[in-house]
Amino acid sequence: RNDQLDQWDRENFFHPSTHMGQHERGESANRVITGGSGVYIEDRNGNRLLDGFAGLYCVNVGYGRQEIADAIAAQAKELSYYHAYVGHGTEASITLAKMVMDRMPEHMSKVYFGLGGSDANETNIKLVWYYNNILGRPEKKKIISRWRGYHGSGLMTGSLTGLTPFHNKFDLPLSQVLHTETPSYFRRPDLDMSEADFVTHCADKLEEMIAAEGADTIAAFIGEPMLGTGGIVPPPAGYWNAIQAVLDKHDILLIADEVVTGFGRLGTMTGSAHYGLKPDIITIAKGLTSAYAPLSGSVISDKVWQVMVKGSDEMGPIGHGWTYSAHPIGAAAGVANLKLVDDLGLVENAGTVGAYLNEKMKDAVADHPQVGDVRGEGMLCAVEFVDDKASRKFYDPSRKIGPAVSAAVLKQGVIGRAMPQGDILGFAPPLCLTREEADKIVDATRAAITEVFG
Ligand code: PLP
Repeated sequence: RNDQLDQWDRENFFHPSTHMGQHERGESANRVITGGSGVYIEDRNGNRLLDGFAGLYCVNVGYGRQEIADAIAAQAKELSYYHAYVGHGTEASITLAKMVMDRMPEHMSKVYFGLGGSDANETNIKLVWYYNNILGRPEKKKIISRWRGYHGSGLMTGSLTGLTPFHNKFDLPLSQVLHTETPSYFRRPDLDMSEADFVTHCADKLEEMIAAEGADTIAAFIGEPMLGTGGIVPPPAGYWNAIQAVLDKHDILLIADEVVTGFGRLGTMTGSAHYGLKPDIITIAKGLTSAYAPLSGSVISDKVWQVMVKGSDEMGPIGHGWTYSAHPIGAAAGVANLKLVDDLGLVENAGTVGAYLNEKMKDAVADHPQVGDVRGEGMLCAVEFVDDKASRKFYDPSRKIGPAVSAAVLKQGVIGRAMPQGDILGFAPPLCLTREEADKIVDATRAAITEVFG
C-alpha cells in the first residue's frame, strides 16, 4: 500500500459520481488500479479481479492489448495532434471514419467525432435543432427520452437521462426534455397485462404525450436499443417496431444511443441491426476504442445530412466543433481496436459466450426465492432481486440490495455493478470473455446471493 496516495487522493481528487462526504472523511473505498490483462485487472495490493463490467461497459477487447498500445505510441510519435477543422484530417481519423461507416446501417452517411458519449449526445441534439431550423420549423424542438434511459450527465444529456439523481438539485431536466414510459415489463405487475399489451401501452403512452404536446413541437426521440444503466433491460418483443411506427407517423427523428450496444455487445455490430431500428442518428463511444483513448461519434443518416448540406449552402459552415474532435491518438486507438474486434471475431463471441453466460446465470440463480428476474442479451446480463417472488413485491431502493450483492461478488474476485435502481446486479464483461470466465462470474454470483440472502 502507498498511504501517501490515499492522502493525496482524499485531499485533491474530486471523483465522478462520488459521495463527497464519505470521500472527505476517508470512509469510501480507495482502490488504486495498477494493471490489466484480458478480462482481469490488478490493484496495488496485488488483488486480481475478473472485471465483469469491462470498466464501464467499455473495455470491449479486454485489457493489455499490445496492438492498440503500439498504434497509440506510433501515432503519438508521428503526429500527436492536429485539428480536424475545415477540411483538415489525419490518416487515422479519415481511416477510422471509413471503418465506422462500413459498420453502420446502410442508410447512415457521415460520422462526426467527439470525445465521450455525453458530448456526442449534446452534438446530436444540436444537430436535431439545426435540422428543424433549416427546414423552417423552429418550434419542433422537444426531445422525448425514457425514464431510466441513460444518455450522459451534461446539462442537456443529464436532462435526457431519466434517472432523478441526475436532475435533482441541478434544476434539470431542461424544459425541452420530456420522459416517457420505461420498457420494463417485469417492473409493471400493477398493469396486469400481457407483454404484447404492454408494448401497445408503451406506444400509446408515447402517442398520448405527442398529442398533448403537439407533434409539431417534438423533434426527436432518444433511446438505447437495450436499456443499460437503467437496469440492463432488453425491450419486450415488438417494442421498437411499435415505437418506430409512432415516430414515423409524426415525423419525429430517432436517435439510437449505441454507446453501450455499438460494435458488438449484443452479438451484432449495432443494436439497431439487432432490433431492426432505422435511426436518423446513432451515438457511438465506449466500444469504438475499447476505452484505450477517449473517442465518440455522432453517426448521421443521409436524410439528415442532405438537409444540413442545404443549410450550409444558406448559412455557411456549422458552428459546432471541439478542439479534440477526431483526435489522432483516439482515432489510431479506434482503428487498431476495430481491427482487433474483427480479427478476434469478438462480435460473434459476444453472441455465443454472451448467450452461454445468460443461460448459465438463469440455471444457477433463477430459482432462488429472492431472484425475480435474470435477463440479458449478448454480453449484458442482469439479476433483479425481489422482496417477495410470488407477489412480485419490489425492494425499497433504500435497502441497497444491489450494492450488498455486488460487494459479496467482489469478495469472490469478480466485479459486477449495482445498477442505480438499487436492487439489480449487472454484468457487461469484455467481449473476449471465455466460457470458463463466464462460469466464474456465475459461480461468484451464486455464492454472493447465498451470502446475502442465505
Ligand atoms: N449513453 C449511454 C447509453 C451510456 O451508457 C453512457 C455512459 O455510460 C453515455 C451515453 C455517456 O457516455 P460518457 O460517460 O462517455 O459521457
